[in-house]
Amino acid sequence: MALMIGEECIACDACVSDCPNDAINGGDPIYIINPNLCTEYMGAYDEPQCASICPVDCIFQDPDYEETHEELLAKYHRLHPD
Ligand code: SF4
Ligand code: SF4
Repeated sequence: MALMIGEECIACDACVSDCPNDAINGGDPIYIINPNLCTEYMGAYDEPQCASICPVDCIFQDPDYEETHEELLAKYHRLHPD
């Protein structure tokens, strides 16, 4: 399941560089996660990096993008073929 950023986002930019998939972009007024690039933490870490660093705790699972861990891991390997 991809994560999404809620309207509490203060556009602090802290999460952008921590995403292993470059899935987060600045938006107006809140930042946005590309669900096609988000793999939660599968393949890279033990927890979602963006959610763990967000100072206002505004990143949560997007119910419109349900995916199994196997599907997320396959997506991660497609994004990182090396
Ligand atoms: S959950 Fe992981 S892959 Fe998804 S946007 Fe956050 S840091 Fe990037
Ligand atoms: S870390 Fe949180 S508040 Fe900062 S830009 Fe990312 S989602 Fe927004």
